[in-house]
Amino acid sequence: MKKIRTVLGDIPVEELGVTDCHDHIIRSGGPEVKLDTAFLMDDVDCAAEELGRFLKAGGKTMVCMDPIGCGRNVSKMLEVAERFRGEGHILMTTGFHKGSNYCPNTSFLATVEVNKVAQMMILEIEEGMDLHSYNGPVVERTKAKAGLIKAGTSYRLITGLEEKALAVAAITQKETGCAISMHTDFGTMGMEILDAIEANGGSAEKTVLCHMQRNRDKYYYQMLLDRGVNICFDEPNKAAYCSDTEIAEVIGWLIDKGYSQQLVLGMDGGRREALASYMKTEGRANGLEYLLTRFVSILKKTGITQETIDTMLIHNPARIFAIDV
Ligand SMILES: [Zn+2]
Repeated sequence: MKKIRTVLGDIPVEELGVTDCHDHIIRSGGPEVKLDTAFLMDDVDCAAEELGRFLKAGGKTMVCMDPIGCGRNVSKMLEVAERFRGEGHILMTTGFHKGSNYCPNTSFLATVEVNKVAQMMILEIEEGMDLHSYNGPVVERTKAKAGLIKAGTSYRLITGLEEKALAVAAITQKETGCAISMHTDFGTMGMEILDAIEANGGSAEKTVLCHMQRNRDKYYYQMLLDRGVNICFDEPNKAAYCSDTEIAEVIGWLIDKGYSQQLVLGMDGGRREALASYMKTEGRANGLEYLLTRFVSILKKTGITQETIDTMLIHNPARIFAIDV
């Protein structure tokens, strides 16, 4: 039977509902925070308020993309999820970010044999995520299981460590059936990512390439989509990179070419300034509900129908994140 693996347990696919396919509401530390404290988001009340705003705007599920070693906080995420039991869902991930977040010589990703690392990821999906997110040496499994796998690559480059993380992701997928969701840097290396996943027994159809709006290259998208992969457009409300209309128009172009079944949406606010709840002490900011309250309106203005919006927000995530249990 097909189910979706949320942190509070498996749910029927039709319960997934409107899904933000890439976001962050808790990040308790890690290398990104070390670089810039705007990445620190460590407050359960704020995270709950943010999820609440998204649910109130018509959302149902948030896919929280915090990987191992990057401030993932299982206990705090569980606290948030518990507050919305029966109202909304959270999916969490196992796996890795891009290689610059790990020591290429001494991290366990670097030193442990690839199949053993994959086994650690498989256990997070099948038994429960480690309370300490493999910060080691003690592993204490929670009841919360990861529902998908993350890997990441660099800008125009897949490092040796990232090749290994891709192999780990593909092996984990082969064993569990879970989707792989990729951090791409500026949308680059899509074809090479698929090569690596397929070479290790993974499937393009169960893979999502995130952050692709940073590389608005229509025919590149088409070449990727023709291999069966899914693309996530996940940064509305980040005008410093591109306008919402630019993202909407390229989505519209892909829909016209017949790829609506392979597109999903997210916000990837990523930093405090994109989460209204964390910003309220400083002033008024847009929160993650912007995806539904603003970006959907822009999609409609470009001529995309509600039916196709539902395909991207509801039906595609349900198919991609479904696993056989
Ligand atoms: Zn992200």
